[in-house]
Amino acid sequence: MPGPALPLLDAHRHSLETCVYCPKLCRTACPVSNAEASETVTPWGKMSTAYFSGRGDLPLDANYASTAWACSGCFACRSFCEHQNPVATVLMDARAEAYARGVAPEQARKAVANWHARAPEITNSVNVVATQTDTDRAPETSVALLIGCGYARRFPDVALDAARTTMAFVGSKTRPVRACCGLPLLHAGDHDGFVRAARRFAAEVSRAPSLVVVDPGCARTLLQEYPRVGVALPPVNVWIDLAARERMRLRPLEADELTGERATEPAPSSPPSNRAARVRFHDPCQLGRGLGKFDEPRSVLERVAGNIAGFTRDRDAGECSGGGGLLPVTRPETSLAIAQERIAEHKRLGGGVLITHCASSLHRFRSAGTPAVDLITLVARALSPRNSA
Ligand code: SF4
Ligand code: SF4
Repeated sequence: MPGPALPLLDAHRHSLETCVYCPKLCRTACPVSNAEASETVTPWGKMSTAYFSGRGDLPLDANYASTAWACSGCFACRSFCEHQNPVATVLMDARAEAYARGVAPEQARKAVANWHARAPEITNSVNVVATQTDTDRAPETSVALLIGCGYARRFPDVALDAARTTMAFVGSKTRPVRACCGLPLLHAGDHDGFVRAARRFAAEVSRAPSLVVVDPGCARTLLQEYPRVGVALPPVNVWIDLAARERMRLRPLEADELTGERATEPAPSSPPSNRAARVRFHDPCQLGRGLGKFDEPRSVLERVAGNIAGFTRDRDAGECSGGGGLLPVTRPETSLAIAQERIAEHKRLGGGVLITHCASSLHRFRSAGTPAVDLITLVARALSPRNSA
């Protein structure tokens, strides 16, 4: 059992003990150990390392500590586990213990430095969205809108669509939040930094009657990680829930409207109407297994795109894009291999337009060389008359 060496792991005693004695029943679920073909980075291997480190049987040095970062936070192992063990959460706490002791991987420490350095860039990006939506003077008592740093920094077009669609769904101006939810710090292991970021975020939205959050990674952070550290927020609504609720306002899109501006991969056989166009939906881990939202994105996508193709493993058993948990930073080759496998399956199954709804998977797919489109983009088009979006 975990000893006093790593107090954060003490709360996970049952999970750690059941993992250590398990014959690796989730072995095939983990994208990291599948890509690296290594027992050390199976969920069992990573949990065992944390368990023995917690007991003091293994030294918590940089070598052993690094296994906690061999996780994309995809929650797939939990779906395959009789005990529903929250391996990703345990490993985040193992990261925090290692970070606090100065044995976190160098890339994780750099990620924290980069997070601080990028804060002005994120603020500027959100300011641009606020200006474009005429919400830069929206009072603090407006509904608050957290778009997500990933969208704001990397995909300003999607961020703008997110703000516009949210206002259409809410029926009033929203106030874009400048603060980051702090998820990158949590992934890096900077637990104290994450708590400070969460408190700053909560202070910024304290006068808002409610909050809409767009990126599923941010949404899961606000809804599940903030309560763990005792940070309270106004009522939180998730963008995909608003989109699903309002989906009958969306018009069905024609086939040529289903590709994003960077999406150049042709839909097969130039279908004559949207009902014949092929789109394939990738369940983002934070949205699907993280928040339990599998039907909501499908109901929206079916409305705008008609029939949806799937992957061999979908929904709760769906596979990861490789873009989460800081994996692209700490294990870039593994992250890329995971993305390439998902993309290869997409092509093997017939290709088409690859749709996702998460800034991390959107970036992971696009940076791996395959066009992908965010559901937000399609919703923005479907809320507008043809040729005006
Ligand atoms: S997460 Fe569950 S299935 Fe996987 S090793 Fe641990 S106990 Fe076994
Ligand atoms: S959460 Fe995903 S990446 Fe992490 S150990 Fe489980 S299956 Fe592997």
